[in-house]
Amino acid sequence: MDGLERCRPCGALLRRRFALESTTLVWIVVGIVVLAAAAISARAAALGGLGMTP
Ligand SMILES: [Zn+2]
Repeated sequence: MDGLERCRPCGALLRRRFALESTTLVWIVVGIVVLAAAAISARAAALGGLGMTP
């Protein structure tokens, strides 16, 4: 257990976990952004094909 001051192993583990989790989160956000961009461009293309301007 730690007090307010963390010992070295706990700090390293926590930083590693945080790095992994933030990397995963960033990757998920990137995926969402890419999907959203693809959906928007697909919708724009469909509307353009129908002769409508979005
Ligand atoms: Zn500790």
